[in-house]
Amino acid sequence: MIQRPKGTKDILPQDTYIWQFIEDNTKQVFKNYGFQEIRVPVFEHTELFERGVGDTTDVVQKEMYTFNDKGGRSITLRPEGTAGVVRAYIENGMASLPNPVKLWYNMSMYRYENVQKGRLREFHQIGAELFGSSSYEADVEVICLAKRIIDSLEIENVKLMLNSIGCPTCRQTYQVVLKEWIADKLDKYCETCKSRFEKNPMRILDCKEKNCIQLNQEAPVILNYLCKECKEHFEKLKNTLNKLCINYEIDSKIVRGLDYYTKSVFEFIDEKEGLTVLAGGRYDELVKELDGQDIPAIGFAMGMERIVELFKRKETKIKVPIPEIYIAQIGEDANIFATNLVEKLRNINIYAQKDVTGKALKSQFKYADKIGCKYVLTIGETELEKGKANLKDMITGEETLVVLNEIELAKHIEA
Ligand code: ATP
Ligand code: MG
Repeated sequence: MIQRPKGTKDILPQDTYIWQFIEDNTKQVFKNYGFQEIRVPVFEHTELFERGVGDTTDVVQKEMYTFNDKGGRSITLRPEGTAGVVRAYIENGMASLPNPVKLWYNMSMYRYENVQKGRLREFHQIGAELFGSSSYEADVEVICLAKRIIDSLEIENVKLMLNSIGCPTCRQTYQVVLKEWIADKLDKYCETCKSRFEKNPMRILDCKEKNCIQLNQEAPVILNYLCKECKEHFEKLKNTLNKLCINYEIDSKIVRGLDYYTKSVFEFIDEKEGLTVLAGGRYDELVKELDGQDIPAIGFAMGMERIVELFKRKETKIKVPIPEIYIAQIGEDANIFATNLVEKLRNINIYAQKDVTGKALKSQFKYADKIGCKYVLTIGETELEKGKANLKDMITGEETLVVLNEIELAKHIEA
């Protein structure tokens, strides 16, 4: 038997109802905030991610699904959404649209990860990007949006963690301090960290190796080295969140896994499992870095698989739709009549079923009972002649003689 590749998941009907519920809710929230949907390709030129995400990140160095296509181009399956959305924003001249431009997406992502709880190789993210504002007010709006999505799903025990990782100006000072601090213990770090020391020392702070995490405990934090502008930006953001009564905690250890982040970064963390379910931040340099105009932006991505797991923890379950009516039949003419009737019922938006496998009448009843149909209508030769048949309420067991016509049936079912 061929099995699914490691790190992938089949999402079965009982779960797709949960996915749909989350997607529908989120879509509604996006609409209320003026975010519009964008869809970008599953694969892009590898260079987009190397330049966008950063060539010393885990994502680019270890996790990308990269291959040469038949034309010899280096292609990569998207490991994240922002780079592709930024490319699309630039390529389609969206900077000339009324500013700010607010976009959302719901896409599958591909990363060659060490598979473990909450870490898959194919996973899904719902994300948002707001282009064209450097104001802290955009940070406030995006954080409110993220919080409202989580609240709308009534998921509890999720807390907001906040940090600022400054801009290229603050980083100049900070990186000197950080390098000095790491230098005398560099030989204790893993090989990847060593290789990042010269080019991108801040990456060392995001290392997932136990030993490196331990070593990083006492590392200087960039929050203490912010330039005046970044400090002001962060203060205004915090003040506004305070006034809006949005709870958060400062976590100066958040640096995020992608190089493009600047200033505010945030994560929504599930307190029970300690997993990040939604993460994002500002990326003021990325549009320019990818050859667009100098346009600031901020966004986030929510991990669908992780949110679904939290959702399943709740007591209230999603109701799976059950058929309003099952039409059982016996004989060839009744069968054709039943087919015609279920079609007419479906045409007026009623969930109706009949047998398509050649089951005997008794088995049809059994099936209708198993799938939990609300009503069963039984048609044979006599019923066809009379134009009336028995409609059985499967909950009360009550039977009613009804006219064989979709409007009459609808009246009974919906009564
Ligand atoms: P980490 O440092 O934990 O690896 P990251 O920086 O790679 O995180 P992002 O790329 O910002 O994370 O992803 C945003 C969200 O998407 C995560 O918080 C998580 O909910 C989800 N996510 C990321 N990678 C995976 C994965 N491999 N499997 C499932 N969900 C994921
Ligand atoms: Mg990661």
